[in-house]
Amino acid sequence: MIFIWGWRAVSLLLGTGVFHCPHCQADSEYKHLRSRRWFTVLFLPVIPLNKLGEHVLCQRCGSTFRMAVLDYPTLGQECPPTSDSYLEVGGGVDCLEPIK
Ligand SMILES: [Zn+2]
Repeated sequence: MIFIWGWRAVSLLLGTGVFHCPHCQADSEYKHLRSRRWFTVLFLPVIPLNKLGEHVLCQRCGSTFRMAVLDYPTLGQECPPTSDSYLEVGGGVDCLEPIK
């Protein structure tokens, strides 16, 4: 039996950039995607159905994350130029606020 109809998710690329991937534990390029489920006939999307939301796709490992992952600083973001301004947390590096 051949299935000529079905459903599948189709993603629209909204942007790209660099973020700190929690899975890779490194800075990686990402794709910002918006997905929507479509009704398909012969594997071609013909009727848009429900929205599945926006997410971030790591181009290195292929993992997907919620948009909040972009709120974390990348390793490439500059910290103040003192060695005391770095803190390693779980393999990552965070900038600290200067102590007054
Ligand atoms: Zn990754």
